[in-house]
Amino acid sequence: MLGDTIAAVSTPRGKGGVALLRVSGPDALAVASRVFCPKNQKSLQEITPRSAVYGEISAPDASGIWHSVDDGLATVFLAPASFTGENTVEIACHGGVLLTQTVLTALFAAGARPAEAGEFTRRAFLNGKLGLSAAEALGNILEANTQEQLALAHGGMRGKIEEACEKIYDSLRAVLASIYVKIDYPDEDLADMSREEIIAALDSCYAALESLAKTYRTGHAIAEGISTVICGRPNVGKSSLYNRIVGRDAAIVTDIEGTTRDVLSETVAMGRVTLRLFDTAGLHETHDAVEQIGIDRANRALEEAELILAVFDGSRPIDREDLALAESISQRGACKIAVLNKSDLGACEDAFFARYFTHTVRISAESGEGMDALCDLVEQLFVDGSLDSRNDAVLSNARQHASVLSSMESVSRALEALRAGYPIDLCCTDAEAAMESLCEVDGRAVSEDIVSEIFSHFCVGK
Ligand code: GDP
Repeated sequence: MLGDTIAAVSTPRGKGGVALLRVSGPDALAVASRVFCPKNQKSLQEITPRSAVYGEISAPDASGIWHSVDDGLATVFLAPASFTGENTVEIACHGGVLLTQTVLTALFAAGARPAEAGEFTRRAFLNGKLGLSAAEALGNILEANTQEQLALAHGGMRGKIEEACEKIYDSLRAVLASIYVKIDYPDEDLADMSREEIIAALDSCYAALESLAKTYRTGHAIAEGISTVICGRPNVGKSSLYNRIVGRDAAIVTDIEGTTRDVLSETVAMGRVTLRLFDTAGLHETHDAVEQIGIDRANRALEEAELILAVFDGSRPIDREDLALAESISQRGACKIAVLNKSDLGACEDAFFARYFTHTVRISAESGEGMDALCDLVEQLFVDGSLDSRNDAVLSNARQHASVLSSMESVSRALEALRAGYPIDLCCTDAEAAMESLCEVDGRAVSEDIVSEIFSHFCVGK
């Protein structure tokens, strides 16, 4: 459907100083010309591309007669030098809800059709203006809630992942070319790479893929967020810690046991990491049916957790219930931190916790003491400090990660065959599969379904 012309409002719905409407497609200038007339008497076709021109905006009334409805600015972008790679006109009018809708309807009356969610970006992708990972990063820019997410999305949007993949792809292609020469001319010494050199080249491709794959731990922690469950016995200060991390009184704090019954959740930044944080009901034996439901929910949240903040009252001596809890939490697969709260009231023995937890932090949720240390620890556990989100290639979603892993597996199979002394041409299929998986990352080889799924998450007008 690239042949038609689409239009949408690109600014959010609601009152605002200005609203921006976008028209893109082969007839963009003709469509926009019906609606927008430059005041300097030149037509849109004649004005300098990429510079705004002032003019009158018209729309048809109920009986189809066109009237002036507003003044505004139009900017023309000629293919391929536009975001979508097609002819595009952007019209800025005053930001009233009715006015914006009227101008949009006028664009439809002039021949455009309503754009689907993410269709401008999808066209940009299909026209080769940006890779699929860059398009995903663009989506993440709109969704970003933390500065670190913004930095990561910005780096991704500038094609850092595509760049890294391209480099590996080119090395694989060189290896493959060399192998094909060997196959086609076995008796001549035409190939520029010996068997050992091919192994060395594939080894370095593998290493590059491995280090790219490793960035997903950081990218996931920043972009998707770590599912983090605060758990512990009643009254140890779980809700106080939750409030301290989210930065406001979101959960009720009292010295009455069993106040938190449902699971509360919020997405927040902790240093560079994004936490999908859950506060849960106190874990203990109870005969209260409602509290028991809360405890069951807490246990379910714990099953899905990537990080468990196990809170203990660190000012009191350890008792049997602490022991039971430490034992049960230490058996869970997630990353675990023992948070010894109420440090302002004194300190119990740390040695006990060291037996069950690799990481222990002493804090006072009430005063905030120790929170920096907790934040540093979480960062250390999930973020590679040597990675610069803005300038390095950092994988930020499971789709990209899966493709890089599958490319790694193919390279590994090719290396195994070569090292086992099999004929050199046996590794061609694997080297080709590795290249194909890399193409999925930037979208050069990706199914229509996946592309549709990705762009369906965008808003209309983007
Ligand atoms: P939860 O039941 O585990 O969620 O615990 P709450 O956060 O509701 O806190 C239980 C009680 O402990 C409340 O009276 C809090 O004011 C108190 N509390 C929580 N954290 C601290 C702390 O760091 N120091 C002191 N002194 N009291 C705290």
